[in-house]
Amino acid sequence: MQKRKSSKRVVVEPKTKPSQSGIVSLQDDQKKQVRNILRILKKKYPVVECALLHKNAYELLAATILSAQCTDARVNKVTPGLFERYPTPEDLALGKQLEIEKIVHSLGFFRAKAASLIGMANGLVDSHDGEVPESLEELIVLPGVGRKTANVVLGTWFGIATGVVVDTHVRRISRLLGLTVKNQPEKIEQDLMEILPRNQWINYSHRLIFLGREICIARRPRCNQCPLLKYCFRSGLPGLDKIR
Ligand code: SF4
Repeated sequence: MQKRKSSKRVVVEPKTKPSQSGIVSLQDDQKKQVRNILRILKKKYPVVECALLHKNAYELLAATILSAQCTDARVNKVTPGLFERYPTPEDLALGKQLEIEKIVHSLGFFRAKAASLIGMANGLVDSHDGEVPESLEELIVLPGVGRKTANVVLGTWFGIATGVVVDTHVRRISRLLGLTVKNQPEKIEQDLMEILPRNQWINYSHRLIFLGREICIARRPRCNQCPLLKYCFRSGLPGLDKIR
């Protein structure tokens, strides 16, 4: 068990709290808070990349579909075998549902995920000559591909910032930081797109995911070790003396 820290660090609350009405106002204090958060995150995680193993856009797209309701680590155990068996969209489009179900079984929702993979691959072959399209509009009409998956592929592989990826870590920590009071990922994304500079949309998500795994862990956030403590509202969390 980890030893409790006897840190006497005091939380200095930002001067502007998020409006309970859900309207995010871009007051100077909040802009300053956002700048500080981005600066600290960059210092803590200077180099960030997607944790899903992939060698090309097709593999990233398939891996992201498989990562729904599942950890990246578990997906990474399955995808090398999947891509060895189906190295291209053309191969996957011809795949048999039962065989793919067997490969992705350990990831949960295996029937739906297998069907999405085959549907996605057929979409790539039929409409895009087997290539992954580079626009949000074309991606989100592929089976199993929602806005979040499209944002991951466009941001990570193509370097195109079309939105902010809001996964479970980004959702939870953005609320704790006071950058949104919304619950639904789509609405949180809208708030984040409004307050974050566009050139930070991709890396903000990557960095929060690292923070969520390492420090701001859902059931046991290590606030006393967190570089963002000074700028975090810690909404709904117990006092610092109750945190390890
Ligand atoms: S670990 Fe604590 S201080 Fe850091 S982001 Fe999470 S809630 Fe805020």
